Amino acid sequence: MRKMKLDLANRRIAPAAAVALVLILAAGGSAEDSGGITGFAPSRVAAERQLEQKLRAIPDAARAEANLRHLTSEPHLAGTDASRRVAEWLRDQYRSFGFDAEIVTFSAWLPMPRQITLELTRPTQKTLATPEDAIDVDKDTADKRIVPAFNRYSPSGEVTAPVVYVNYGMADDYRALASAGVHVEGKIVLARYGKSYRGVKAKLADEHKAAALILYSDPKDDGAPQGDTFPNGPWRPLSGIQRGSIIYTEIYPGDPLTPGVAATANAKRLAPADAASLPRIPTMPINAQDAAVILGNLTGETVPADWQGGLPLTYHFGPGDAEVHMKLVMDYQQRPIYDVIAKLRGASDNEWVVLGNHHDAWVYGAADPGSGTATMLETGRALGELARSGWRPRRTIVICHWDGEEPGLIGSTEWVEQNATELQAKVVAYINTDVGVTGPNFSAGATPSLKEFIRDATREVEDPRTGHTVYEAWREHGLAAQSDIPASARQAAVADASGEAPVDAIGSGSDYSAFLDHAGIPSIDMGFNGPYGVYHSAYDDFYWMKHFGDPKFAYHATLAKIIGTIALRLDQADILPFDYPAYALELEHLTTDRIRRATRDGDEQALEPALDGAAKLSISAKNASDALEAISGAPLDPAKAAQINRALASVEQAFLVPEGLVGRPWFKHPLYAPGTYTGYAAVALPGVTEALDRHDSATLKREADALTAAYARAAAKLDEVARLAQAAASAAGQ
Ligand SMILES: [Zn+2]
Repeated sequence: MRKMKLDLANRRIAPAAAVALVLILAAGGSAEDSGGITGFAPSRVAAERQLEQKLRAIPDAARAEANLRHLTSEPHLAGTDASRRVAEWLRDQYRSFGFDAEIVTFSAWLPMPRQITLELTRPTQKTLATPEDAIDVDKDTADKRIVPAFNRYSPSGEVTAPVVYVNYGMADDYRALASAGVHVEGKIVLARYGKSYRGVKAKLADEHKAAALILYSDPKDDGAPQGDTFPNGPWRPLSGIQRGSIIYTEIYPGDPLTPGVAATANAKRLAPADAASLPRIPTMPINAQDAAVILGNLTGETVPADWQGGLPLTYHFGPGDAEVHMKLVMDYQQRPIYDVIAKLRGASDNEWVVLGNHHDAWVYGAADPGSGTATMLETGRALGELARSGWRPRRTIVICHWDGEEPGLIGSTEWVEQNATELQAKVVAYINTDVGVTGPNFSAGATPSLKEFIRDATREVEDPRTGHTVYEAWREHGLAAQSDIPASARQAAVADASGEAPVDAIGSGSDYSAFLDHAGIPSIDMGFNGPYGVYHSAYDDFYWMKHFGDPKFAYHATLAKIIGTIALRLDQADILPFDYPAYALELEHLTTDRIRRATRDGDEQALEPALDGAAKLSISAKNASDALEAISGAPLDPAKAAQINRALASVEQAFLVPEGLVGRPWFKHPLYAPGTYTGYAAVALPGVTEALDRHDSATLKREADALTAAYARAAAKLDEVARLAQAAASAAGQ
C-alpha cells in the first residue's frame, strides 16, 4: 500500500532552533567526512568498504526484470491460492541463495467479493460498476482472474438513496457541507480518493451517518490532467479503479479478530461485531467514468473551486433527483496468510537485522509491491553469494516477505505479535520497502536515530540517471520538491535548515507499523518514486513497469544495492550507528512547537515538564555519544560491544507506553503514530497533538505527563549506554 505524505504541520520547528541545528551539524561532522564509517573502528573500515563493493557488484537489472516478470505472471490477491504460490516461489528462491527459508501461516478474517452491483435508478436507469477496459497492447489487462474492484472489509449491504458529493471526505469537507445546509444522513456519499487513507474516509462517512460510501479516482488527482494515461503514459485512464482496504488500521492493524495477539489456528478471537477495526457501512470503489454519470445527475449548489475535480462537468453538492442502488455481498471467512521468513544465520544469533517487503497484490502489483519484491530478491541473492564465498554475517539477517499487507498489514502484524518478546530482544532495526520503484526519485522515511545513517548509505551508490551519487540526486530533488511547498507551510523544516536530503517522519501504511508503533523497533522505509497513476488497479502490471516505471530496471538494481549496503552496515557495525543526539534535538523542537500551540488555550504549562525532559534527553544522548566516541578507536571486546549495542538498540523501546495511546492501546509509541484522521501520515507526539487539535486540556495534561515519563525512560537507557561505554573504556585501559 504505502502512500508517503509530507506532514508539514509536524515538521515545523522554531526558526531559532533551526539555526541551532545548523550550527550543531556544522560543528559535529560525521565519520564519513574523515573517510570513516559511523559505527566502525578505523581498523575495520577498509574491509567493510571492500565487502560492500563486492555486494554492490552483484544486483543485476536483468535478473530483477526476470523476477518481476515471474511475480506478475498472475493476479495474486491475499487469501487466494495464487498468493500461496508466490510465497512458495519466494521461499524456494531464498533456499537456492543459501538461506534457511520457511512459510509461516496465519488464519485471518478476510472477505472476498461475491456480488458488486451499482446502478443509477433515477432520473434514468444506468448500470454502473463498470470494470477496467482491456487494452490491446497489454494482454494481461484482459485476464479473467482480475478481481472485480472492491474495498476490502466493507460489510455486505443493500442501499438505495440519493447521493451527496463530499470532495475528499475529510472532516473539513463535512463541516463545509453542514454550513452550506447539505445533509448527508441516510445518503450515499461520493468521495474522491486522496489526502487521507481510504479507511479514514469510511469512518468519517459512518460518523456522519451516511448510508453508504462510493470512492472514485478523480482525473485531476491521478489522471489526464497530470499527464498521458495508460497505455500511452503512466497516469490513470478513465476506466482505471483504485481497489483498497478500508479497515481502520489507525485503530489497530492486522487481523481484525485478534488485536495484540497472533492469528494462529487456536487464537482466541473476537466476534466480528466487537472488532473495532471493522468498517460499518457498505463502501465500494468506482472509476472516473462511472463517477461522471453520478456527478452529472447531481443538482444543488455548485461546489467551491477547490472541490471541482477534473471531469468535464460542473460539480454540484447534490442530492437532487438522482438516486443510486448499491448491493454488496461479501463472503467473510477465515483464510490463510502465508509469510515467507528467510534467515542467513550470523556468528551471533542474538542480534537480528530484519528486512521486509510484502508479496500480496491487488491484481498483478508490478510496482506495489512487485518492484520491492524483485529488488529484495536481488539483495538476498547478493548476500547469499557473499556467504557462499566464505563471508559470514556478524548478526543474523532475516528477510521477510509478508502476505496480507494490502487488506491491513496482516502478515507483518501477526508475525510481530507472535514474536514480540524475541524481536524486542534481538532486532537492531527493521528495513522496509513496499512500492520499491515507480521512477527515479529516491525517498525515505525513518526513525530520527537512523536518518543520517540512511543518507550515508546512499552516498555509496551511483544514481543511474545523473551518474552522481543517489544521495546527491535525492538531495537535489528533495529540496526542490520542498521549495514547491508554500513558504507559509514550510517555515523551517529540519531538512531546509540543514540543507540535507529530507528524510520523512515514518507513519503508517506499510509493514514497518507493527515493528515501530507496536514493538518500538527502529525502522526505515524507502523507495524510488515517479509519476504513478495506476496504484491498486489492473494496470499496475509488467507492461506499465517496462514502459514507464523503470524500463531498464536500473533503479531496481540500484535499490537492491542501497538495501544491501544498509543491511551490511547494520550487520557488521562494531557499535550500532544510531544517532540519538539528533533524535533528542528533533524531540526538543517538536515539544517546543507543541508548547507554542498550547499557548492559544493557555495550556503551555502542561507541556513544560516535557520540554525539560527533552532537554535532559539531549544531555544524556550527548553523554552517551561522547562515551562511545571515546571507545571508537579500536575494536571492542565482543561481549562488551554486545551489551552496549543491546542498550543502544533498546532506546527506542524505552519510549513505549505499555498501556498504549488513549483509545487505541495497540499503538504503544508516544512519539509517532498514524493520525486518527489522516491514516497514512505520521503524527509526531500523537497523544499531545491530537489533544491540542481537540482543545482538550485534561487529556493534554495526561498525554504531556506520559511524554515526560517516556523521555525520562529513554534518557535512563542512554545513561546506561554511557556507563557501559565508560566501563569498556576503563577495562581497555583508555
Ligand atoms: Zn504495497
